[in-house]
Amino acid sequence: MKHIVLFGPPGSGKGTQSENIIEKYGYGHISTGDVLRAEIANKTDLGKTAKDYINKGQLVPDSLIIDMLDKKLDDFVNAQGIIFDGFPRTTAQAEALKQMLQKRGTDVSVMLNLLVPEQELIDRLVKRGETSGRSDDNLETIQSRLNTYNNQTAPVIDYYKAEGKLANIKGLGTVSGIFELICEHIDAV
Ligand code: ADP
Repeated sequence: MKHIVLFGPPGSGKGTQSENIIEKYGYGHISTGDVLRAEIANKTDLGKTAKDYINKGQLVPDSLIIDMLDKKLDDFVNAQGIIFDGFPRTTAQAEALKQMLQKRGTDVSVMLNLLVPEQELIDRLVKRGETSGRSDDNLETIQSRLNTYNNQTAPVIDYYKAEGKLANIKGLGTVSGIFELICEHIDAV
């Protein structure tokens, strides 16, 4: 079973490329952002807690996210592969993922790191905010999300580099062109 960590800053195209990967490879998909938004919509305790962090552009605490993911993983026991989209976002989450997969006799196959310049990210997210209805797609929260990414999430790149699992992918160009690069890496593992 292949475990693909699809990584990159907010606006780098993780959601879009996840859809392409699902369509071509039929893998399971875990987007922690989507799971959190569903929790918010369902007004669960987790949703109520997560909402304030999300609207400030901050990370939801690791312990909550890790518990949430551990439960979610059991939905995919029979999948050919799993795409992790928006997780791990801290090195503590990366460690926890390693342990969760080890417990199940497996490991991360590759981390696909989408590289996109910051101004392009801001432009994309502001544009998305016009139609997404997402409470965090406004300029102030976008800037805070990018800071959070740079301070807390970018170090995860070094974690997978040390494991020999980092694949950098230029995230600029056409969606299909970027997807081709992604497929090359998925097929190689
Ligand atoms: P984006 O990558 O565009 O910021 P996501 O949907 O992945 O969008 O995440 C939206 C928000 O949900 C994040 O800003 C953060 O507050 C929260 N979140 C999502 N995934 C995680 C995670 N793995 N750890 C902590 N917080 C998370």
